[in-house]
Amino acid sequence: MPGADTNPRNSDGRLLTGSAVRVFALKSGVQRLLRAWYWVLAFLLVGAGCGDPFSTEGHLHLPVADSYDFWIDDSVSAENVAAEQAAVAQWRTYTDVKVTLHYGFHICIEDGCFRIIEVPQATLDKVVGENYIGWTTPYLITLTPPLSWDEAQDTAIHEDGHAFGLWHPCTAPCALYAVMNPTYSEGADHVACMDVANYYLERGLPGPPAGTAPCTDAPGSLTVDPSLK
Ligand SMILES: [Zn+2]
Repeated sequence: MPGADTNPRNSDGRLLTGSAVRVFALKSGVQRLLRAWYWVLAFLLVGAGCGDPFSTEGHLHLPVADSYDFWIDDSVSAENVAAEQAAVAQWRTYTDVKVTLHYGFHICIEDGCFRIIEVPQATLDKVVGENYIGWTTPYLITLTPPLSWDEAQDTAIHEDGHAFGLWHPCTAPCALYAVMNPTYSEGADHVACMDVANYYLERGLPGPPAGTAPCTDAPGSLTVDPSLK
């Protein structure tokens, strides 16, 4: 039917018609409104990201949760989705963190829930006033289009670490071997032994449970395990 293809489709790909189109318009209008509110909330929390009660010595320091739900928004590019999957795979390998990845729009207000979005670098610069490639606040992880796979992976692992309650072990520039080191170092950053130690320190536990893969400080970014995607 001429023009019918301009109508929205439902999740099965079927074209909507008549009152279903109006319901769709209402739903997407509400979703746009929620997204706008979410940005207002995110901007308010940006300030909180650098101050009490979410900071220690000026470094972002979020409370720990028992388990995590990461909601990867549609705004996240395929490269950053893969980086996020690789990041979660790494944290799961070297710690017993419980993370479930979800895809789509979701507003997080529960403990351990983080919405992951991607915005242009210039937008994040404007919001945080500095040149960051990733930014985490309560309930929200913001990524920017990465320059390389290595940078994408490092940023996702680092921001996930903040979500898990880790803070920077030093102030940039510093040479400590840890993905939570705020200085990005190409080809050298992945979940390292200091990150694992600090993950358990935050939880008042001596270390990973028996059976967890031993941590490594071997340089070089780790590759993605395709089975984990
Ligand atoms: Zn950081």
